[in-house]
Amino acid sequence: MTNSSGTIDVKAATIEEIPAFSNAAITASILRLDRLHPVVSGNKWFKLKYYLEEAKEKGFSTIASFGGAYSNHLVALAHACREADIHSVGFVRGEDGDSHSLAAARAAGMELFFVDRDAYKHKEQIQLQYAHKNWYWVDEGGYGYGGAEGAAIMLTMYHCSTFTHILCACGTGTTMAGLIRSSLPHQQIIGVSVLKNHTGLEENIRALLDDSSTQDNWRVYHDFHFGGYAKHPQALLDFMNDCWRETGIPTDIVYTGKLLYATKQLIQQNAFPSGSNILLIHSGGLQGNLSLPANKLEF
Ligand SMILES: *Cc1c(COP(=O)(O)O)cnc(C)c1O
Repeated sequence: MTNSSGTIDVKAATIEEIPAFSNAAITASILRLDRLHPVVSGNKWFKLKYYLEEAKEKGFSTIASFGGAYSNHLVALAHACREADIHSVGFVRGEDGDSHSLAAARAAGMELFFVDRDAYKHKEQIQLQYAHKNWYWVDEGGYGYGGAEGAAIMLTMYHCSTFTHILCACGTGTTMAGLIRSSLPHQQIIGVSVLKNHTGLEENIRALLDDSSTQDNWRVYHDFHFGGYAKHPQALLDFMNDCWRETGIPTDIVYTGKLLYATKQLIQQNAFPSGSNILLIHSGGLQGNLSLPANKLEF
């Protein structure tokens, strides 16, 4: 895939060991999807792939979706649409039009509409209001079967069959559903929810698995959200800086910082049996750090 700020080369993402996380009993590695693109989140390319293909196939000239002012999803959609020569429209929650994310989405050609928080809760109303436009709609965060199908490509593309445990950060759970669908019987898929009290997450994930799926090789941890979605107390920033110094891996405040923190805790608590070969998915999201004051992060 290409875009005007460079080519997305799937080979740019590689799997590397994290010696600082490994110990005598287990080996930890990370899939660096953050290397795919400086702005666009790694997992989002996979999640959007089939939505874009379907929109093209069915002859839609515009794709519309929803997101908050810091949405990695809208930025990725804007880039992917520009690349596919499709017009993109983003409905943004709230009145705040000033974030780096929205500037990036706009720069990639996305047309933005701002809706107040109450109206945003009723997305089907918004869709009705614009029904005459004949737009192809993608759910908030790219949630959906097509998104999971796209995420399912990752494990084969990067030859992940030797890993016993695969960990990812969960927003909507779409990426995790894809990983579960493409996992092998000897693999466990472990999600770290970045939202507080996201009680419907498991159900949302299950809804994206095959009807016939009886797969139970997965679980979600709910206690590593650091206060809630996008909350980033000093303790998280300290961890991210320590992690950077120890491993050279940059993380983001919304997703991957929390994923790496959770993984380190779980390793310390001996949550993985001896001999485990663990893979973390670095899903990108680094552009989200631009919302921080300079000098908070060392990278
Ligand atoms: C969107 C996003 C996620 C969450 O993906 P879901 O499929 O919604 O669970 C994880 N990490 C990063 C960096 C993201 O931008």
